[in-house]
This record gives sequence, C-alpha cells and structure tokens, in this order.
Amino acid sequence: MTAVAPLEKTPLERYVAPAKPSLVGLSRVGLSEKLALIGVSEGARKMRAQQIWHWLYVRGAKQFDEMTSVSKELRGALDAHFTLERPEVVAEQISVDGTRKWLLQLPGEHEGERPHQVECVYIPETDRGTLCVSSQVGCTLNCSFCHTGTQRLVRNLTPGEIVGQIMIARDRLDDFIAAKDVPSDSPRLVSNIVMMGMGEPLYNFEAVRDALHVASDGEGISLSRRRITLSTSGVVPNIARTGDEIGCMLAVSLHAVRDDLRNTLVPLNRKYPIKELLEACRNYPGVSNARRITFEYVMLKGVNDSLSDAKELVRLLKGVPAKINLIPFNPWPGSTYECSDWEQIEKFSEIVFNAGYASPVRTPRGRDILAACGQLKSETEKLSARERLALRAMAMTD
Ligand code: SAH
Ligand code: SF4
Repeated sequence: MTAVAPLEKTPLERYVAPAKPSLVGLSRVGLSEKLALIGVSEGARKMRAQQIWHWLYVRGAKQFDEMTSVSKELRGALDAHFTLERPEVVAEQISVDGTRKWLLQLPGEHEGERPHQVECVYIPETDRGTLCVSSQVGCTLNCSFCHTGTQRLVRNLTPGEIVGQIMIARDRLDDFIAAKDVPSDSPRLVSNIVMMGMGEPLYNFEAVRDALHVASDGEGISLSRRRITLSTSGVVPNIARTGDEIGCMLAVSLHAVRDDLRNTLVPLNRKYPIKELLEACRNYPGVSNARRITFEYVMLKGVNDSLSDAKELVRLLKGVPAKINLIPFNPWPGSTYECSDWEQIEKFSEIVFNAGYASPVRTPRGRDILAACGQLKSETEKLSARERLALRAMAMTD
C-alpha cells in the first residue's frame, strides 16, 4: 500500500436519509449492523446477511417476501424497518441504436425541496453491455465542453444510489437470475461498468469505492474489477487510493497536451497540471502492459485536433502503459465547440496508431436521446409534459 494521502473533497449539498432506509448498497458489515438493530442474534447475523445478499444481488429481489429461505418472522421484521428500494425511475428513453437512458429521481437536502435527478445509460454492444454510472448530481468542475458541468446543483450520491443504478439496469433489462433455472455463468447483459456518467467519481471517493466493492463481490453482482473502469478528470491526490482500495481500471480525461489549453478545457488542470497527472498515472497501483490506463481525448475542431497535438500526445505518454480513446465531441444545446472533421480524426488516429497504441475512436451512442458522453444533464424539461407523463406511466407499470 502507498502512504494514505488525505482525501480531497469539495463542499456540496447534503443528502437526507429517508425514514425507512433501503438496504441496497450496504456492505456485508453494514448489513449485519442493520440486522443487529432489529434483534438478530450475533451468531445468526452472518448467515442471514449472506442470504439477504444473495436474494438482493443474485436474484434481484425487490420485496422481502421473495426471500423464501429467510424465516417469515424475520421477513416481517425487515419489512417493518427497511426497504429494498432502488432510486425512482422517472423516465426511460431508448435510442434508435438500442442505448437506453434512465432518468432517476433522488431525495434532496430539505423536505419539500425539488428532488435531485441523475442519469444512467446502458450501451449494448456485440461482445458486452456497458452501464455508464453517475457518481454525483451535477459536477463542480465545469469543463468547458461538458454539459454536466453546467448544472448548478451538486451533491454526492450515496453508495446505495450508485449500486441502485446497476440494480435498475438489471431490473429493466431482466438481467437478474430469477427463481427460474438459469445457469449462473450465462452471459449477463450488464457485463461492464464505467464510472463515466454525471460527476467526478474521485470527488466522491468513499461512496464510489464502497459501491464498487458491492458490484465486484463474487457472491453478488459479481463484476470483475477488470470490467469496471473509473474515469477521472485528474484529481491527482486520490488516484493512488483508487488503485489500492478499489483496484479497478483507470481512465483519465486528458483532452489536451499543453497546460495552457488544458487549463481552459479542464480547469482542474490549474491545480494538477499534466506533468503531475501523468506522474500519478505512471505510479498507478497495478498498472502494467496488461492493465493499461485509458486516456480519453475529446476531438474538438480547431482546438486540440492538430497533427502536432497527436505527435505531442504520443511523446507525452511514453513510458505510461496506455490506451488512447478518441471521443468525437458530442454537442449539446448551447455548446460552443464543434466536433473535428472525420478526416482529421482519422489522420490524428493514424499517428497514434503508428506509434503503437490501439486508438479506437469511440462511436457516439445514443446521441438522439442526449445519452452520449458529456451530454448528460438531468433536465426533464427537455421532454414535453405529455412525454414525461407517458414515460412515468411506463416506469410505473413495468
Ligand atoms: N468526471 C469524469 C467522468 C465523467 S465524464 C471525467 O471527466 O473523466 C466521461 C467522459 O466524457 C470524460 O472523458 C469527459 O471528458 C467526456 N466528455 C464530457 N463532455 C463531453 C462531450 N460533450 N463530448 C464528448 N465527450 C465528453
Ligand atoms: Fe465534471 Fe467530468 Fe464533465 Fe469535467 S468532464 S465537468 S469533470 S463530469
């Protein structure tokens, strides 16, 4: 373990817990503590916690009643004090390319306050299904090309709200092993997770870490840590702990090769310039040629897409086990940038490729429903009142 540096945080809105809390997202220890509160004896707690864990994360139980291996009395006691609620789905949109976006409603800080909203996106591909998970309502970092950064209200999500997004995706895609006889090694629709939704995950480190521990637990949701990628805009002091305490794959939003330009695109660069960021990447615990760091680079026409930028990118990343992910810029209402021309992206990509890097250009997915990278901003006003009602009704009848 590297020395534990103090965690960096930003002041945010608070979350007010509901009167009857949900058990979704608790650690096994947390779950045992809840069982203690309702009088389950110390000797029985571990076994009971294990049973509940299985029903919740393998079978996707929504009600305690479904947990037939748990005694009726205990089911009643659990039901009197807790729920298995996931965040509320207020809208579901399905793109022409099969991408799905869910708008989730979360409690705010005060009673009567407008509820907070956050988005979660599922991207099906031939060999995998990736869920793009949010870590905060909004984001404090204001990258100039990102829609999420324009949202005023910001609060950290709880581990339950982060795990809840995975639960919702599995619920809606019918991706839990139900009571029906399905072999447990059959491929899952949600096979990968990327912490690339709304928010900066490393400004909500503890909740993200705890949620990802639940997601990677082999007796539950069971996603390998190699199939979980956390993307950061570069919160340098929290990068080592990500490797040590989460052990997931790392993606870094680089987007520029010079500090002057990166200062304007990713303002956090003023605090943690490129050199420090790359140093933290070189030292990322567990990094190797088999476990490379992904560098994300959004293609902005006439801003960061020259061929000398491509050459400088290759030079900068020398000695870092890296993959480079070129992302076509996704426009959003009011954005001032344009996406680079396709020929330019190809030329840029060729330089990166010839230097020995795999350089896939990320195909934009779900653009028609504003579900692509950087387009997320919870704003139900985008839908007409009629659409909102229809979607809400759909969410409630499923
Ligand atoms: N806050 C984290 C993770 C969420 S953003 C981060 O910044 O890394 C996920 C990715 O989408 C980041 O690489 C981000 O830079 C990129 N992105 C943001 N806005 C975008 C846009 N309009 N078009 C394309 N990519 C964008
Ligand atoms: Fe926040 Fe990431 Fe958007 Fe920057 S790109 S504003 S860090 S969500």
